[in-house]
Amino acid sequence: MFDVIIVGSGISAMTSAIYLARSSKKVLMLECEQIGGAIASSPRVENYPGIKSITGSNLASNLYEQIENFGVEFKFEEALNIKKNKDSFTVKTDTDSYKSKFVIIATGAKYRRLGLENEEDFVGNGESFCVACDGAFYDNKTVAVIGGGNSAIVNAISLSENTKKLYIIQNLSKLTGEKSQVEKLKKKDNVEIIYDTVVTKLNGDDELESIEIENKDGKKVLKVDGIFVSIGQLPNNDLAKDLIELDDYGYIKVDNNCKTSIDGIYAIGDIRSKKIRQLTTSTADGTIAAISIINELDK
Ligand SMILES: Cc1cc2nc3c(=O)[nH]c(=O)nc-3n(C[C@H](O)[C@H](O)[C@H](O)COP(=O)(O)OP(=O)(O)OC[C@H]3O[C@@H](n4cnc5c(N)ncnc54)[C@H](O)[C@@H]3O)c2cc1C
Repeated sequence: MFDVIIVGSGISAMTSAIYLARSSKKVLMLECEQIGGAIASSPRVENYPGIKSITGSNLASNLYEQIENFGVEFKFEEALNIKKNKDSFTVKTDTDSYKSKFVIIATGAKYRRLGLENEEDFVGNGESFCVACDGAFYDNKTVAVIGGGNSAIVNAISLSENTKKLYIIQNLSKLTGEKSQVEKLKKKDNVEIIYDTVVTKLNGDDELESIEIENKDGKKVLKVDGIFVSIGQLPNNDLAKDLIELDDYGYIKVDNNCKTSIDGIYAIGDIRSKKIRQLTTSTADGTIAAISIINELDK
């Protein structure tokens, strides 16, 4: 029996694993896609304190080495469901099933994609989702924000401070974000809003060079250095949705210790209900959940 099973291997999961394993707890980490989670796809991280610049894949492999050194057991398996027993949990995976005293869900969230051919090749190479993460790479450049809701408008206002030219491509006939923010955006000289238009193609060799857009007047190519796709995020909540209380958007509700509505199950990082989804907020969750569990185990 494990003390803790952690589902996911993103930075929140890695942080919990470090704390738990350093306290001699028996930890199993399950991951179904890539070691290090979402950040492993980032070409450059410049906002992680103490590290001036690092590629996402190097950050991910540093984290993996760290948990390996502390003796965390790692398995490339997808967790399919969690069953609550009297004094333990059973986590069933696509390969096996494992028992533990506590479970941490750290399954993250996915940015919604445009659904275009070769789109994954451009993620991190011109296609971004997070202005706080990648906005600074586009100072004095030409950028398009795709979307017209609140997050798109907030992203566009922030980007327009430093970009040379900013397009907003909205598939509806108006922007649907908060009115005062829409007015603020419309006053910006370097912003052009293109309504009733969709992006149909991403062009470029290794890096994004232009996008093809389409509306009732036909197709057109816009030269851009980057796009910020701002059409929402989807929580990876399959494991939790029939078991744990979620918020209206499908994220897991937790208390101040990252405890969910089920005693013994914690949720950390991007999968939990919160406003800011970043590396540093994820590591904070990982620390809080781990220390809370250590205190419970050592009672
Ligand atoms: C391209 C990109 C660039 C970014 N750049 C920055 C940046 O510069 N700075 C910053 O602060 N933030 C950045 N972010 C955001 C940051 O990556 C996230 O906030 C952070 O990774 C969240 O960590 P997490 O541990 O919650 O989950 P994630 O990193 O999302 O990891 C969750 C993991 O769980 C796994 N998983 C899901 N379901 C299961 C299951 N059933 N069984 C097993 N495994 C499962 C997934 O495969 C995934 O690996 C970026 C995000 C992206 C996508």
